[in-house]
Amino acid sequence: MEIKLVFDEPKQRVKPPKHFADLSPEERKAKAIELGIPAFRANQMAVHFFTHFNDDPDSWTDIPKELRQTMAAEFTPKLITLVKSITCDNGKTRKDLWKLHDGVLVESVLMRYSDRTTVCISSQAGCGMNCPFCATGQAGLTRNLTAGEITAQVVAAARICASGELEGGPTRLSNVVFMGMGEPMANYNAVMRSVRNITSPQPDGLGIGARSVTVSTVGLVNGIEKLTQEGIPVTLAVSLHTPDDELRDTLVPINSRWKVREVLEAADKYADTTGRRYSIEYALIRDINDQAWRSDLLGRLLRNRNAHVNLIPLNPTPGSKWTASRQEDEDEFVRILESYGVPVTVRDTRGREIDGACGQLAAAETASPVVIEGVPL
Ligand code: SAH
Repeated sequence: MEIKLVFDEPKQRVKPPKHFADLSPEERKAKAIELGIPAFRANQMAVHFFTHFNDDPDSWTDIPKELRQTMAAEFTPKLITLVKSITCDNGKTRKDLWKLHDGVLVESVLMRYSDRTTVCISSQAGCGMNCPFCATGQAGLTRNLTAGEITAQVVAAARICASGELEGGPTRLSNVVFMGMGEPMANYNAVMRSVRNITSPQPDGLGIGARSVTVSTVGLVNGIEKLTQEGIPVTLAVSLHTPDDELRDTLVPINSRWKVREVLEAADKYADTTGRRYSIEYALIRDINDQAWRSDLLGRLLRNRNAHVNLIPLNPTPGSKWTASRQEDEDEFVRILESYGVPVTVRDTRGREIDGACGQLAAAETASPVVIEGVPL
């Protein structure tokens, strides 16, 4: 099978308006100066946006009234508009559907746990990686999101947390996972700009620790290598789904370009450089990748690596013949991995009833469903 790697937008589109969050802190100041506004005003904007999640210029009382509209138009144009949100799990899980400036729809999922609140965000509208068990993969890539559009999903989640709208009262957004729609490494620069926005201390960013940010990838080795050089120790998650190349060639088609061994070696270098253990994502699919011999092979592959396995019960996508593993097969899979000393967790399936779980977010509003996979860690 021929794999087309889509790193660029497939066709010419009207670009989303430039936003403060597309720029580095230095560029924000430079832009202020360009507009004839003193550089310190860029810092004030950053406080409003990243500390108070406030994009309403009328309330920016520390900025002269006559400047507020210009600064709002130039720095914080509205990039995402809420179309719909649905909650479940007694109000502790919430899925938001966002419309972008060109009508494209993406979704994010906010999940509150006893010890953390996590938002699962999209980095692309659609995805070009074509994994057959993932609903997003079936729809293909619509376009890359900008850093502003990615960051806006996180700021919106932080605002919802602070406002007390989630069941349990006001809280702080503590974790961000790039596990919604899209392949983060295929939109590398925008993803990295947004990672910096998320992890930079206030006022330049949201001040969420890099360890609380997870970037999940199908295994684009060039992207993992680049990430290793960034000096930002985010948690790396690799969607392996099987230890053998033969099956992985079909489950994760990019495997025909970068094999299991190469992907794990790149992840090992990431772990060595950052000191961070990485996650192996493994969707358990009944009679496809859940056999004891595969668990054995995975255990052998990972026993001396700084990795942790996250098993995800497959969330069947519409029309797919595949389903989640039998309980006894899942238990045996875990047992074998543990016998090799490999740390394993089985992911809970938050948000299933609102199509908010892996590979299942579907926007009923669209003619062709917009789908993302929103999953907690
Ligand atoms: N493109 C990135 C982010 C995708 S979503 C990546 O592939 O890692 C995060 C995880 O959800 C990935 O491991 C993905 O393989 C998994 N996933 C996708 N569809 C799923 C489904 N239907 N059931 C269970 N997990 C799924």
